[in-house]
Amino acid sequence: MSPLTHALLSWLTANSAPSLTRRERGLVTLAGVVPDLDAIGAIPQLLTARSAHPVYWGSDLHHVLGHNLLAAAVTAGLVAWRAERRVLAGALAFAAFHLHLLCDLVGSRGGDGYTWPMAYLVPFTDRVQLEWSGQWQLDAWPNVAITAAAIVVTLVLAARRGFGPLEVLWPAADHAVVEVARRRVGRFAGR
Ligand SMILES: [Zn+2]
Repeated sequence: MSPLTHALLSWLTANSAPSLTRRERGLVTLAGVVPDLDAIGAIPQLLTARSAHPVYWGSDLHHVLGHNLLAAAVTAGLVAWRAERRVLAGALAFAAFHLHLLCDLVGSRGGDGYTWPMAYLVPFTDRVQLEWSGQWQLDAWPNVAITAAAIVVTLVLAARRGFGPLEVLWPAADHAVVEVARRRVGRFAGR
């Protein structure tokens, strides 16, 4: 799914525990988007595509380096290390990371039909490849519906709690999001 959808779903995962601090919510949200760092190899792949020595780091490493159990455990460990409520924040980071994997599993098919299998137990073995034959395309309607639903729930929560998903990155914009949320969906949020 798109980075926006992953970010929203991760922030909502963080908000399932109202006791988390702003910083902890930010860490859990980060844990849910960090798997896609392994897509960064697409840049050198693109840049060298017409050269004498093309590299295929995008195709070879995306859904391999960052979409596995070890990466999830390391990410959850780092979040726990930086959090006050270590167990809770670490567990939610692990959950957000795996929600990302689940979303990719069901809805990240490329335009060419490739399903981007995930080598879940790399580097220990590459024999376990998570893949679902029913996977829909990245731009298919279920992804649009899930993203739209996540936006609505995010706005309701923002209206109710007074903070949104930009609270760590861009507080001023986050205040604007809360204002818009309170105007648009305040009625549904009991405001
Ligand atoms: Zn991903």
